[in-house]
Amino acid sequence: MNDMQMIKEIEKIKKEKNIKIFAHNYQNLEVQRVADYLGDSFYLSKLAGEVDCDEIIFCGVRFMAETAKIMCSDKKVVLPVEDAECPMAHMVKPQEVLAFKKEHPEFKVVSYVNTTTELKAVSDVCVTSSIAEIVINNMDAQNILFIPDMNLADYVSKRVKGKNIISWNGYCPVHDKVRKDEIFAMRKEYSGYEVLVHPECRREVLQEADFVGSTSAIINYAKNSAAPGFIIGTETGVLHTLKAENPKKEYELLSPSLICYNMKKTTLRDVYNAVTGKGGLVIELDKELAENAKRSLDEMVRLACN
Ligand code: SF4
Repeated sequence: MNDMQMIKEIEKIKKEKNIKIFAHNYQNLEVQRVADYLGDSFYLSKLAGEVDCDEIIFCGVRFMAETAKIMCSDKKVVLPVEDAECPMAHMVKPQEVLAFKKEHPEFKVVSYVNTTTELKAVSDVCVTSSIAEIVINNMDAQNILFIPDMNLADYVSKRVKGKNIISWNGYCPVHDKVRKDEIFAMRKEYSGYEVLVHPECRREVLQEADFVGSTSAIINYAKNSAAPGFIIGTETGVLHTLKAENPKKEYELLSPSLICYNMKKTTLRDVYNAVTGKGGLVIELDKELAENAKRSLDEMVRLACN
């Protein structure tokens, strides 16, 4: 079966089984093209609880599919590739968080959504990169442990006032590799282009950028800016959306290291196999664990929409 035939079959089966395909912006273009919804973590996790369907095929990494399942326990959620994992999601263990809480009861735990369900269950609230600042600002607590991304924690702590934020030492292996020297080199080559970077990058990189924001914020910024081109400091998959939404502008990837191999594991064939029920991982979560994790996600939505 060739790609065109597979796409036709996917579309047909989607309608028959009332399936919706969710894809993160970092997915391969062939996967983005068959998605019903394309976006960042916050958009997709919120949508999972709202969309009318019987099944969600979640093209992303495992924590994303688990988050969708938590938000809509009545729906079947399938991750097309079982070992599509985010390494950062495992850089802290639930026991470590519990031990910290016991020793420091005055701290609230804020967990980046890029964490396992077990970690969300022991956290007080979740955040995504697009809403971390607003959620933390709206929290009553003064003392905050931010897990697991130290770069995002550092960025947010500079932007919120009156909070004592300490962070775990996790990081995204993709964004953390970027260096400020790469910005200098790219600016020389692409004069007049603006540098837009994700807050999972190191402080030295953020300091040299023209704009720092989540994936969706970067897409919005590029849409509204008068610059002729942009140097993009986040995962390469975003370039597809940027080019589709603003085809008259130019885009260059800031660093060749900005490829997430876990996000790229999912192919059109994997989506086809998941839709037909021949492949993928059906997400199953322990009920109590999922309920505890949902509390942190609900709190995120409540504080973000305050
Ligand atoms: S880009 Fe980084 S944070 Fe996102 S899924 Fe890949 S490893 Fe995880």
